[in-house]
Amino acid sequence: MKNYICPKCNGYLSIDNEIVFLTKNNKGESAIVLLSAELGNYSFRKNDNVDFEEGDHVNFICPICYENLNAENVDDNLACVKMIDSNGKAKKIMFSKVLGEKCTYAISDEGVDSFGDNKDTYSNRF
Ligand SMILES: [Zn+2]
Repeated sequence: MKNYICPKCNGYLSIDNEIVFLTKNNKGESAIVLLSAELGNYSFRKNDNVDFEEGDHVNFICPICYENLNAENVDDNLACVKMIDSNGKAKKIMFSKVLGEKCTYAISDEGVDSFGDNKDTYSNRF
């Protein structure tokens, strides 16, 4: 089982196959969002009353320490969490904060693995 961890407080963000975030879009709407823990799976869950739309710039916030999870010094459009894979190996996971943009990067000592249809968009940042 993979575990996702806040890079700021080291709190556990994942439960089984979902990762829990506080989010706020650029129009000021807030929601709890559950992302799939599977790399390259862009399905997510949120309350039906929240109208996040394609292209919204969504801030991801740790629900434990309330720190912003921006991928600082990499790109304003990327968020970053830590992942410990089933072998106990740590990776940095970066993903787009723009709704509908499908790209995820798993970064470790061994290099960068990219996922998603839009993975070329930020591949020059690493
Ligand atoms: Zn945290």
